[in-house]
Amino acid sequence: MTDETKPKCMCARCHMRGLMGPLMLIAIGAMFLLGRFTSYGFRELWPVLLVIAGIVLWLQSAASGEGHTGA
Ligand SMILES: [Zn+2]
Repeated sequence: MTDETKPKCMCARCHMRGLMGPLMLIAIGAMFLLGRFTSYGFRELWPVLLVIAGIVLWLQSAASGEGHTGA
């Protein structure tokens, strides 16, 4: 999973960017689980993905890029 050939940039901005994928997977998984056990499913809750994406992008733009190495 981790790329050993080059050191990963650990600035706050890159850290936030790395959260996007896992958060999306967690949200999608939670929606399918809710769909199984409640009357709310992916069809009702998918806009939550847009909210999460927006929040992550906003946090990313607000996060400090200090120490950014570009890796
Ligand atoms: Zn960075």
